[in-house]
Amino acid sequence: MSALTSVSVSVPKTSPHFSVQNRAAGAYLGMAVGDALGATVEFMTPMEIHRQYGIHDTIRGGGWLRLKPGQVTDDTTMALALGRAVLDAGGVEADAAAQAFDDWMRGKPVDIGNTVRRGIIHFRRTGRAANPASEHDAGNGACMRCLPVALATFNCQEETVEASRAQAHVTHNNPLSDAATECVIEMIHGAMLGLSLDELHAGPVVKLLHGFPRFRFDNGRCDNPSGFIVDTLRAVFQALFEGESFEAAMVDVVNRGGDADTSGAILGMIAGAYYGMDAIPMRWLKRLDKKIRQECESQARELIRLGWT
Ligand code: MN
Ligand code: MN
Repeated sequence: MSALTSVSVSVPKTSPHFSVQNRAAGAYLGMAVGDALGATVEFMTPMEIHRQYGIHDTIRGGGWLRLKPGQVTDDTTMALALGRAVLDAGGVEADAAAQAFDDWMRGKPVDIGNTVRRGIIHFRRTGRAANPASEHDAGNGACMRCLPVALATFNCQEETVEASRAQAHVTHNNPLSDAATECVIEMIHGAMLGLSLDELHAGPVVKLLHGFPRFRFDNGRCDNPSGFIVDTLRAVFQALFEGESFEAAMVDVVNRGGDADTSGAILGMIAGAYYGMDAIPMRWLKRLDKKIRQECESQARELIRLGWT
C-alpha cells in the first residue's frame, strides 16, 4: 500500500494533486450522494422541483420511492453488488456479474428498471450472462453501475472495452449504451490521472461524439433528461463542463429533474474522481446511509488495489 500512496501523476492544467485513492473514494461517494440527492426529485420536471424546493440541494429522502433521508436506490446498490462480484472473482467476469445482479434482484431492491429486470430474467432462464443485442436497450442502466469496472481496470486500460461490456451486456446490449459507458469509464480513468476538464472533453468525450454525434450537448439545454442514455449523458456533460465545483455541477444536474438519481449518480462518479473526496459537501456525506458510505469507501480502496495488480 505504501507504494500506492505515492502515486499521483502530475499533468498540466489540472486540479490539485490528490492520490488515486482519494479520487477513487470521491467517485464512489460522489455516485452514492448523487443517487441519494437526485432520488427525491426523480421523474419531476424542473418547474415542479422549483415550486416544491426552490433549489433542491438537501438530501432529504422522499420522492416517488418514499426514501429515508440518505437512502440510495438501484444505481448505487447495483454498483455495490457488481463491485463485490469483481472483488470476489479478482476481476470483471460476465457470469459473476450476472449472478450478482440475480442475487441483488432476489434481495427485493427498492426499485428496478425494466431493461434490468428483463436482462436478469433472461439470465435466470438461459444461464447466459450476455443478452442478445437490442436496439431497445439504450437505457442508462448499464452506465449507472459501471464504476467498479473503472476502478478495476484503472491500471490495465486496454481491457476497458471487454470488461465494460461483460457487465453491461447482462442487461443492456446496445451500441449507444456501450459507447456511453466506455466513455464514462475513460473519463473516470482520466480524472483519476489528474486530467483537466478540457482534457476529459478533448479525449473521451470527443471520441464518443465522433462515433455517435447524437451525444452532442452544445445544442440546447437538456432539462428533464429521460432514462435514455443519450439524454442522461447530455445533461451530465452540460452540468459537469459548466459547473465550477462538485457541488455546483451536482445541484445543476439533479435540478433538471427527469432521471435525476441516475444523472446524479453518473455525474457524481466523474466529478468525485475529478474534484476528489474532500470536495463533496460534508452535509451530504453525513446524511448518506452509514452502511452504504462504509461500503463505498471500502470498495473504492479494494478495487483500486485490484486495479493496480
Ligand atoms: Mn435509481
Ligand atoms: Mn433513475
